[in-house]
Amino acid sequence: MRSIKRDPLPKRTNEEINQLVNDLMSKMTLKEKIGQLYQTTHDGAAITGPSYDASQNKKLINEGLIGSFLGLYDNMEIYRLQKEAVENTRLGIPLFFANDIIHGCRTSFPHNLAMACSWDPKLIEEASSVAAYESSHSGINMTFSPMLDIVRDPRWGRVMESFGEDPYLGQLYARAYVDGYQQDDLTSYDSVGACAKHFVGYGQIEGGRDYNTVDMSERVLRQFYLPPFEAAVDAGCEAVMSSFNVYDSVPATANKFLLRTVLKEGMNFSGFIISDYTSSGEIINHKIASDMKEVAKKCIEAGLDHEMVSNSYINHLETLVNEGSISESLIDDSCRRMLTFKYKIGLFDNPYKNIYLNFEDYWLKDEDRQKAKEVALNSVVLLKNEKVLPLKTKKIALIGPLAKSNQVIGPWCGKARDEDCVSLYDGLKRKFGDAIEINYSLGVDYNSHDESLFNEAIEAAKLSDVIVLAMGEQQWMSGEAQSRASIEVPGGQLKLLKELRKLGKEIVFVLFTGRPLDLREVEKNSDAIVCAWFLGNESGNALADILYGDYNPSGKLTMSFPYVVGQIPIYYNHLNTGRPYVPEDFYRSKYSDIPNNPLYPFGYGLSYTEFSYTNISFNQEEDEVSVHFTITNEGDFDGVDIPQVYIEAKSFSVSRPVNELKGFKKVFLKAGESKEIIIKVKKKEFAYYNIEMKKAVESGEYLVKLARNAEDIVSTKTISFREEIK
Ligand code: BGC
Repeated sequence: MRSIKRDPLPKRTNEEINQLVNDLMSKMTLKEKIGQLYQTTHDGAAITGPSYDASQNKKLINEGLIGSFLGLYDNMEIYRLQKEAVENTRLGIPLFFANDIIHGCRTSFPHNLAMACSWDPKLIEEASSVAAYESSHSGINMTFSPMLDIVRDPRWGRVMESFGEDPYLGQLYARAYVDGYQQDDLTSYDSVGACAKHFVGYGQIEGGRDYNTVDMSERVLRQFYLPPFEAAVDAGCEAVMSSFNVYDSVPATANKFLLRTVLKEGMNFSGFIISDYTSSGEIINHKIASDMKEVAKKCIEAGLDHEMVSNSYINHLETLVNEGSISESLIDDSCRRMLTFKYKIGLFDNPYKNIYLNFEDYWLKDEDRQKAKEVALNSVVLLKNEKVLPLKTKKIALIGPLAKSNQVIGPWCGKARDEDCVSLYDGLKRKFGDAIEINYSLGVDYNSHDESLFNEAIEAAKLSDVIVLAMGEQQWMSGEAQSRASIEVPGGQLKLLKELRKLGKEIVFVLFTGRPLDLREVEKNSDAIVCAWFLGNESGNALADILYGDYNPSGKLTMSFPYVVGQIPIYYNHLNTGRPYVPEDFYRSKYSDIPNNPLYPFGYGLSYTEFSYTNISFNQEEDEVSVHFTITNEGDFDGVDIPQVYIEAKSFSVSRPVNELKGFKKVFLKAGESKEIIIKVKKKEFAYYNIEMKKAVESGEYLVKLARNAEDIVSTKTISFREEIK
């Protein structure tokens, strides 16, 4: 990818690596093999979870009892620990270093839910390769990414780490992330190993409260939650992280069905499984083990290879083998997986790979910032526009806690820093200099109900032609352990919006958020709503371009925005009911106080132009169905549209969703331009886990739909398959 000259590390075949691993393992004691199964953390490292006494690390390394570290970015410390492992242990086996680099390392890209709205796997692959480059050159060998949880509950703060609610998109993105990180060549100096997480079902926690219970059927697991992981494994993802939740009442980290039957055997996964942070020890709280010895036994038997932070393996596995409670072959298998990764990534050839003092020279390069801007532009979703945008006037009020804030990264972004981010205010000033008059007021702080600045904000608004509000969540309100029971715009922000509304001026609401929010009041009181998520380094620059029409927004939601929190979980690919909603009919599946539908559905997003679809036809061939149509940009702006194809099985051996996304195209059209488009759906995409829990395309009728989003169907055609395929 980049042109820095270094001696290439040897590329080995799987057979060669197997041989090397076998040779090494024949020299290892049981204790040393167990040591490879332990990942620990380091003092001062930015990590989650309980604080940990790291003073023992040197001693443990010397005894060969640490396999890897997480949470370290300090190259010199990485060097020191690696030297200890290579020079002061019996066999000199190198450590590997892993971190959470989820939407960028030093160059910060939009958070993952935002990036997903680009509907652009290629762009996500490019963003991931920048993250891989910056992290690998900081001495990091693995990123705990991609996060592949299907999410249906915006109360859960971790939805911002995910790609949203759809497994079809999830598969495309899973592959894109893995390809971007691993670049099909782990010996490269520019790549890192990927770790898909959290396996599995974490996105369906009860009540949206982090770490809470999950209960789902095996069909839902297989049909919705597994496909992104299957795609990641198929793309060669090196590691998978088990999740904190239970599945069928057994914590994922000690769940033999999930780890062995589904992942290692079912998907033929040959990499290693790592626990989440202390999730192995937590099975005591889950009440399936009474002490750490039982933890070790249950987890190794379930198939967990690498224990993150909890230390049941190094403390108990040896005894368990010696007393005959478990077979040594379990440890051999896990150790083999760990050493294979270390060989693959080249650590035995150069344990100091990419460890140098000038690592900062590899960070935040101009071309990478440019890429971050491109991704940011593609991630923004225009939710409402009553002909206000793009702005014509340069006399604006800019009000709200995010107007001048550069805290626009969001959690889990490696080494990214707020001071490298451009606020909306600065973005506008950079774009227009003195040519823009910005009447600024903070108005009200995020969570605060203090109204003392309301008058100042109102005065700023009075001086201006249009009011631009930069409001929403503070960047740390989403992320791990950041569940919210209310998903309204917090604090006194809505009250200020309503006060400003009384002035009768046009209002553009720029929404900063890590999750879908309840926007009913915002929708009622604004003329335009721009969902700006947290866009990272280039936030202000990208938003300035969008507000003034130098970029025409094209993002489409990948997670439904509920009408109100009471609808949750809400997702487009839900089943029908026996009594689907019909107005005026009482005994129907409905709420008596709110609509059934979300405020903004999956796939939704406006543009500054209009696109028409004409000459629509559906073609069925032997192994695919294709939708043909002409798309025309009817407006005055160049723009990108994303037509979508959904299917609906009319009758199947089990109930299937009312809509399943199976194809889309991202199309750029100049103003007035038309293009002929074909979207193809392979026959195998019509498959679903049937009554026998086999993926099958059952014979019968299917509705194929050309749509603008999950609720705006443009045209449909019934097709049928006569022969069943399994
Ligand atoms: C999170 C993981 C993360 C790990 C290591 C955990 O608390 O759930 O997503 O990779 O910490 O930082």
